[in-house]
Amino acid sequence: MSDCIFCKIVNKQIDTKLISETDDYVAFNDISPQAPVHALVIPKKHFSTLNDIDDVELMGKLLNGAKETAEKLGVKDNYRTIINTGAEAGQAVFHIHIHILAGRPLLWPPG
Ligand code: 5GP
Ligand code: ZN
Repeated sequence: MSDCIFCKIVNKQIDTKLISETDDYVAFNDISPQAPVHALVIPKKHFSTLNDIDDVELMGKLLNGAKETAEKLGVKDNYRTIINTGAEAGQAVFHIHIHILAGRPLLWPPG
């Protein structure tokens, strides 16, 4: 989508250092980290929310991407994955993404 900030990252219209890239997703650091490690894994194809993805295989690849990203960042033993769906749930960017947070104790439940 032309006005989507994450599509612009995928299309290299916004210069962002990638942690990893496959045919299906890219991972990169969050611009406003909420923990010492805060990365995002996003599909290359635009879907606004989790509810809009109709490709179960891609869902699996994204979750696997989160796991591999955590491993690559050296936090595989303690990390949190989050998908916010909808503004009230905290979603601000409507291109689905998995947050990976780590590097400090994380409270449960979140606020
Ligand atoms: P949400 O609130 O939608 O679940 O998360 C969106 C996340 O994207 C936020 O944590 C925000 O800091 C991050 N973000 C927004 N714009 C950019 C950007 O241009 N670059 C990067 N790296 N992260 C962004
Ligand atoms: Zn997009």
